[in-house]
Amino acid sequence: MKSYKIGIIKGDGIGPEIIDEAIKVLDAISVKQGFNLKYEEMLLGGAAIDETGVPLPDETIQGVKKCDAVLFGAIGGPKWDKLERHLRPETGLLGLRKEMGTFANLRPAMVYDELVNASSLKPEVIKGVDIMVVRELTGGIYFGQPRAIEEDRAYNTMVYTREEVERIAVVAFEIAMKRNKRICSVDKANVLEVSHFWRDIVEEVAKNYPEVELSHMYVDNAAMQLIRAPKQFDVILTGNIFGDILSDAASMLSGSIGLLPSASTGKGVGLFEPIHGSAPDIAGQGIANPLATISSASMMLRYALGESKAADKIDEAIKRALSEGYRTGDIGDYDAKEICTCSQMGDIIADYASR
Ligand code: NAD
Repeated sequence: MKSYKIGIIKGDGIGPEIIDEAIKVLDAISVKQGFNLKYEEMLLGGAAIDETGVPLPDETIQGVKKCDAVLFGAIGGPKWDKLERHLRPETGLLGLRKEMGTFANLRPAMVYDELVNASSLKPEVIKGVDIMVVRELTGGIYFGQPRAIEEDRAYNTMVYTREEVERIAVVAFEIAMKRNKRICSVDKANVLEVSHFWRDIVEEVAKNYPEVELSHMYVDNAAMQLIRAPKQFDVILTGNIFGDILSDAASMLSGSIGLLPSASTGKGVGLFEPIHGSAPDIAGQGIANPLATISSASMMLRYALGESKAADKIDEAIKRALSEGYRTGDIGDYDAKEICTCSQMGDIIADYASR
């Protein structure tokens, strides 16, 4: 029987609750599909600070490298907000992504037919939306040097190297080839030199993919177009900060950020996580929506382990649960037959996926 080693990082807030449900589903499906998953739990973020004094312990850095893939919940919370920047949970996550070399963040934004009414947009605008945001994850302004807060000013620097732009563009073109062969590269080339550079390199990479239709859009227009007519997009290729903002905006098309998964891939082990944060406002109440994390587990099976059949089973189980009216509170106002706790939703998906 095939066996995979999965790194598990539960994190803070609702992290442990949602990861437990994903593991429940993975356990149910792996048995049925004839493979074995071995889990190794690691610390990151606030939980790591409490235990070890740092947000990214060495054991975690070494541990993830020995895994076939890593499933992650979320980190952060008010308890650690006052710490200096280098000791904060978010610094641990940024550092982990950098250590893992996961430079590409894939964030699908799709609208489940059953939840078209959950979106703040009209059903005819969003029904059928299926976008993949490909966000560069380890460069740009979040990492650029110099950076500082001084007495009377503060600054950050947006830097991209040729290699960083080329490799993320290749990821986006490869994905577009498997989808509808359209890429919209989003930048701010009318104002920023770094965006001008980005645009030129994306044009160069495009020459190797003649079948893919490439367009460019300024980020402010892209934000507007995502809300005005989201169906025009297939793959959106963009940098770190623009991707951070646009993918959150895109996620709201689906009605709740509790629904959407993400994958961070690159040279080595991939990191799979929901797009939302640790939701401290609802942590410990058992009401979090675990579907984004369960979907992330499905992406992990598909992209990191090549277990597409098992991934399909999970995706179908989620659709079935939604079509039968099972909802967590965040999507409870939309055609709900039954409002579930986090754990009940996990039970339903595990049951349907393993049939
Ligand atoms: P958030 O995503 O945690 O929460 C935003 C809102 O969405 C909240 O009202 C929350 O209750 C709700 N929500 C989020 N996930 C949900 C789910 N699965 N089910 C139901 N409702 C859900 O964002 P925030 O409030 O801006 O940040 C909270 C903390 O999370 C901060 O410390 C932030 O730094 C951290 N954060 C972590 C990550 C990560 O770990 N990848 C990402 C974003 C924010």
